[in-house]
Amino acid sequence: MCGIVGYIGRNNPKEILLAGLKNLEYRGYDSAGIALKNEENVQIIKSIGKISALEEKINDIELINANMGIAHTRWATHGKVTLENAHPHQAGYITVVHNGIIENANELKENLVKEGISFYSDTDTEVIAAIINKFYCESKNIFKAISKALNILKGSYALGILVSDIDKVYAVRKNSPLIVGVGKDEYFIASDIAAIINYTNRYILLDEDEICELSFKGVEVSKDGMIVEKDVLTTDLISEDTSKGKYEHFMLKEIMEEPNVFTKTLEKYLNNPDLLIDLNKYEEIHIVACGSAMYAGMVGKYLLEEVADIKVDVECASEYRYKKVFYNKKTLVILISQSGETADTIAAMRKAKENGIDTLAIVNVKTSTIAREALYKLFIEAGAEIAVATTKAYLLQVLVLSLLTVNTAYKKNLVNLDALDEVKKLPMMLDEVLKRSADYQKIADTIYENEDIFFIGRGIDYAISMEGSLKLKEVAYIHSEAYQAGELKHGTISLIEDNMPVFAIITDEKNKDKTLSNVIEVKSRGAKVIVITSEDDLEKFDYEIIVPKVNKLFQSMLIVPVLQLIAYYTALKRNCEIDKPKNLAKSVTVE
Ligand code: GLU
Repeated sequence: MCGIVGYIGRNNPKEILLAGLKNLEYRGYDSAGIALKNEENVQIIKSIGKISALEEKINDIELINANMGIAHTRWATHGKVTLENAHPHQAGYITVVHNGIIENANELKENLVKEGISFYSDTDTEVIAAIINKFYCESKNIFKAISKALNILKGSYALGILVSDIDKVYAVRKNSPLIVGVGKDEYFIASDIAAIINYTNRYILLDEDEICELSFKGVEVSKDGMIVEKDVLTTDLISEDTSKGKYEHFMLKEIMEEPNVFTKTLEKYLNNPDLLIDLNKYEEIHIVACGSAMYAGMVGKYLLEEVADIKVDVECASEYRYKKVFYNKKTLVILISQSGETADTIAAMRKAKENGIDTLAIVNVKTSTIAREALYKLFIEAGAEIAVATTKAYLLQVLVLSLLTVNTAYKKNLVNLDALDEVKKLPMMLDEVLKRSADYQKIADTIYENEDIFFIGRGIDYAISMEGSLKLKEVAYIHSEAYQAGELKHGTISLIEDNMPVFAIITDEKNKDKTLSNVIEVKSRGAKVIVITSEDDLEKFDYEIIVPKVNKLFQSMLIVPVLQLIAYYTALKRNCEIDKPKNLAKSVTVE
């Protein structure tokens, strides 16, 4: 959610900061701003709406000759989307950009107001600026001022800080992502490495409450007044990953990348099977995640329970973190998150750790908090995923869960390794499935004017249905619901009307006849039935897509791309903002 970029160095900060913000656009935002600084001045420019609006404003203004700056895209949490509330915020010497939420901002603000300090915005961020400024005025020592402020602030923050009378940039973080980029005679801060990948692929990970000072000479990290030695890491991300290439949208590009990233992830685990931990030492598994990652977890639950014979519960992280959880010593908690920064999932992970429970993370971003803090990690090799609605990362999360299932079931003699011969053929089959865009466009043509759609399935097909339904809601803004096919008649079937699209997912052989009778029930009430299946001998309904039949361990990975593409083409017909759907953010770093 939101983005931060900061720069100090020999080049033009304006260009670098704007380019950085554009690379972070995918995270979702509602306003943007920039602060430029030289020895004498700090100049702040903000605007509501798109970065292009900020750019226009900047181009119309005479800029100071700056050599450092900080920039921000805001996703409002405290205060409406207004110019006053857009970042950067300034108080006395201090200018800040902030990602996160300060939970005790109201209380702190009241006290500061009593001390005679005035505020210009409704944000929690301005309170941070005021507090750091207060302590800076007292001590004229910026490290002391920041540390003292951090001791008081509760909540989450990634901060980029300028101090009017110091020619340096400062950065700190807690429960919000921020990395430090190390270039040649130039240094950066950014919410993620994608923002600055055109300038450097070297970076430092900041741990919580470390203070990073970026100067023209280099980067120094300290905590409690002591210098901390940090490793400079290198990413293999390339700038191409963050461009649309020949595609109109990132979502389509990322779906089309599925065969490649699938192969990359598969090869990694086939070549290093020891990376896949043996789940047999656990009696039960909790899979905890949010959104699509949770639905990937649902697919995992069906596989692990049915094939590897392990009990699995799936919970959404925002509930799990606050509920009473029954752990035993042989519980494993699996966290799934593309970004590794999902606030609720981080909290769920920490809860498990506090209870002495082993944690395993399935994550894409290797620099993320979850990747750093989980006991075991299994990385997917999705590369950068820019479209807000996940596609390739979801697929790879399911792949890793399938491989974990094979590994665990094999060790118990429940499967033999022939299954792996089949998974090697999947990229080729995926290619074939992705090529059939005309078929998916035809379905999009028939559903795009409907405002309500159902997805039905049983067992693993219900888990797949939930992801198909979510995709349609996210990118095409169509209300849709996924239902267990047998549950529909216990109430919801009253909503079925003439011409209402019902997607039936049928891959689960043992349930297929049962699901078919539910399909007939909705069909006889006027529904327009679209069957997505791996079975080629089913009765014909209005529309159908048949994908190649493979081992049930991997079948969902040929069905979900079909649903992703149908959602994509439907959103296209409805002229939706596909890559950045309204109200959504890519990595949900706040509760
Ligand atoms: N809480 C801050 C605000 O509402 C920061 C929001 C963000 O992360 O963009 O301005």
